Amino acid sequence: MTPRVLVVGAGIAGCCAAIALARIGWAVTLIEKQSAWQFQSSGIFVYSNGLAQFRALGVMDEMVAAGFPIADGRNVYLNPDGSPFLETFYPSRFEGNHQVPILGIRRADMHRVLSRHLSELGVEVRLGCTVEQLDALPARVDAQLSDGSRVVCDLLLGADGIRSRVRQLLWPDIEPRYSGFGVWRSVHQRPADLADKIMMMAPGLRLGIMPISQSQLYLFGTVPEPAGAWFAREDWADLMRSRFAVFRGPAAQFLDQLTAQSEVLYTAVEEVVMAGPWHHHRVLLIGDAAHASTPFMGQGGAMAVQDAVVLGRLLASGLPLDSVLDRFSEARPPICRFVQEVSRQVGVSGAQSDALEHARILDAMRSTAQQRVDDFYAQLERLHR
Ligand SMILES: Cc1cc2nc3c(=O)[nH]c(=O)nc-3n(C[C@H](O)[C@H](O)[C@H](O)COP(=O)(O)OP(=O)(O)OC[C@H]3O[C@@H](n4cnc5c(N)ncnc54)[C@H](O)[C@@H]3O)c2cc1C
Repeated sequence: MTPRVLVVGAGIAGCCAAIALARIGWAVTLIEKQSAWQFQSSGIFVYSNGLAQFRALGVMDEMVAAGFPIADGRNVYLNPDGSPFLETFYPSRFEGNHQVPILGIRRADMHRVLSRHLSELGVEVRLGCTVEQLDALPARVDAQLSDGSRVVCDLLLGADGIRSRVRQLLWPDIEPRYSGFGVWRSVHQRPADLADKIMMMAPGLRLGIMPISQSQLYLFGTVPEPAGAWFAREDWADLMRSRFAVFRGPAAQFLDQLTAQSEVLYTAVEEVVMAGPWHHHRVLLIGDAAHASTPFMGQGGAMAVQDAVVLGRLLASGLPLDSVLDRFSEARPPICRFVQEVSRQVGVSGAQSDALEHARILDAMRSTAQQRVDDFYAQLERLHR
């Protein structure tokens, strides 16, 4: 009989898992609580390890066509006045294949690609639907949905993000924790001559500039913000402009043009740290629901796609489902924990507001930054199982 999976949450993890499982013949129902496809967050980076997973899912070329590839993998660091400080290069090779080292893409464009594949594969998508109750039995899951229906399935994937309802139902003690950082993002028209990934650093502040399509780029700035800080949406543009006003050079034209009409997004960054296992009987958490990370390494999305690809590969191997889930829960936590730890360290060093300490960090970066990039990606490759 055709095995059946219910995927809760149609973000990166849920859409990719739905594609991976539909490709190997599972009957897939994907439910999403939003009543229409709409995705917050201006843009996202995908590095070579994430693109390798998109390749495995059969969607990489469309992603690259929809986004803005940085073909040489160059990451340009600038001082606050815009003068050059350092360059690093991201690798293109992952698991023997070469792909674009860095892709910037609008999240909505990424989802357009994924949703096209979902419909081609015949995945049943129910928008405006969530899970109300679930009974995780040893050999099946019985889920009561908000549309009044009941789904009995072999496997249920909780891909419902940081505030996962599935996690709350089965692991009520696990709570997201605030990282101490706020991220401010805005979208702008891309001048034709701005085709680099740029990072600017000042004491306690970072500001990035990244093309996300032929016509657009996005700014993303990180800054320590007190826990519980709340800002009225109509003030976001002014607050972003003033928080990052020290950055001039290429950033000035974008910061100075921010108005209440601009596309600005503020996010208080949270993490989910869960030792594992990430499954209880036939209910498995994937993506941010299990391992949300701070965004400093730009790896949360890649980890979500990897979860999907690894799960699909294990299921295709013919192992019994319980062994697949055990193997998944052994394979995935080490790499996700590694990403969380490195990202946390990068966040802490970038938050250093003491000018002398900040200067010392920049000094050390000059001699170590490239090696750190190389070591990070080598370790991601080693830990990817
Ligand atoms: C500021 C910031 C910048 C980032 N930048 C990058 C980057 O450049 N590169 C990168 O790789 N990663 C980045 N990340 C991380 C990345 O966004 C996440 O890791 C990734 O989106 C996780 O995908 P997900 O599908 O697990 O969760 P989500 O994207 O949160 O998706 C969860 C989905 O589930 C739905 N849902 C929630 N609750 C329910 C429910 N009860 N029932 C049904 N549906 C539900 C939600 O509506 C949503 O559609 C960033 C994160 C932040 C905060």
